[in-house]
Amino acid sequence: MAIIEIDKHSGYCFGVVKAITKAEEHLGNKEELYCLGDIVHNNMEVERLEKKGMQTVDYNEFANLENKKVLIRAHGEPPSTYKMAEQQGLELVDATCPVVINLQRRVRKAYQEHKNDGTQIIIFGKPGHAEVNGLVGQTQNTAIVVEHLPDLVKVDFEKPILMFSQTTKSLEEYRQVVEVITTRINSAVSFEHYDTICRHMSNRVPQIRNFAAANELVLFVSDAKSSNGKSLYKACKEVNENTFFISGPDDISELDVAGFDRIGISGATSTPRWLMEEVRHEIEKKLQASVESAQEL
Ligand code: SF4
Repeated sequence: MAIIEIDKHSGYCFGVVKAITKAEEHLGNKEELYCLGDIVHNNMEVERLEKKGMQTVDYNEFANLENKKVLIRAHGEPPSTYKMAEQQGLELVDATCPVVINLQRRVRKAYQEHKNDGTQIIIFGKPGHAEVNGLVGQTQNTAIVVEHLPDLVKVDFEKPILMFSQTTKSLEEYRQVVEVITTRINSAVSFEHYDTICRHMSNRVPQIRNFAAANELVLFVSDAKSSNGKSLYKACKEVNENTFFISGPDDISELDVAGFDRIGISGATSTPRWLMEEVRHEIEKKLQASVESAQEL
C-alpha cells in the first residue's frame, strides 16, 4: 500500500489557532458568541464551530447587534469597528493576530508622522480584504491599496512613498512592486518600503514545493475561497503536475489514487488538520477497496 503523508507544515498558522482556541473557550462555557466574518476561510471549520453555537455575522448584522459578545478574527479590524462596538455595548473577544496588531501600530505611527507632509502610504494588499481594511483604517482611510502593478496608476511618483504589505501577500509580487516604484519615482523624493509579509506565509511556498516534489500524487485540501489556498495550490502544481485541489474527503471518490507509491496531503493555512486526516482516511479506504476487488478477480 502507498505511503500517505500529511504535510507537517500545512494547516493553521498560530494566529488562526489562537482565534479558534479563543472561540472554543467561550463556546465551551456555553456562552453566546458571534464572530464578525468567517473565523477562517474554510466552510467546514466554520460549520463545525457554528454547530457548537458560534454565530457568524456580516457587517450589516454586526451594526444591529447590541450587548452581545463578538469575536474579532485574526485579520483584525479598523478603529471604526471598535468604536461601533463601544457604542452598541458589545463585548469584544479580540483574537487579532499579534503580527497584525504590530503591523497596524506601524501603519498608524507612519500615518501620524507623515499625515501633513504629502507622503503617500501604500498598502500592498487585496482591496476589501479584512486585514487590508484594518490597515487602511489606521490612516483615516487615506492609504492607497495596490494589489497588482497596474494599480500603481493611483500613485503620484513626484511625492514620497511609504509602503507596507498585507501579511499574506506573495513575496515575489511584493519585490516586483518595489522594483517598479524604485524605477519610476522621482529620485529627489523618498521611497521607504517595509516587507511586512508574515514569514509563516512566505516560508510555505518553498516548503510546499519540496513536499510536492517528494510525492507522486498530491492532494491539496482547501476551501475554494481561500486566496492563500489558491496560491499554495499553484506553487504545488508548478512542481508536480499530479496535484489536485479538493475541498474534503467527499472529493476522493472522483479521483484515481491507486498505483502511486507516495501520496501527499497538503493544505492552506486555513485548512484544519482534522480535515486532512479525514482525507487520509478516505484514501486508505479507497485503496483498501481496490486491493480487495483485485483479490476477488
Ligand atoms: S498568517 Fe501570519 S499574520 Fe496572518 S494570522 Fe497567521 S500568523 Fe498571523
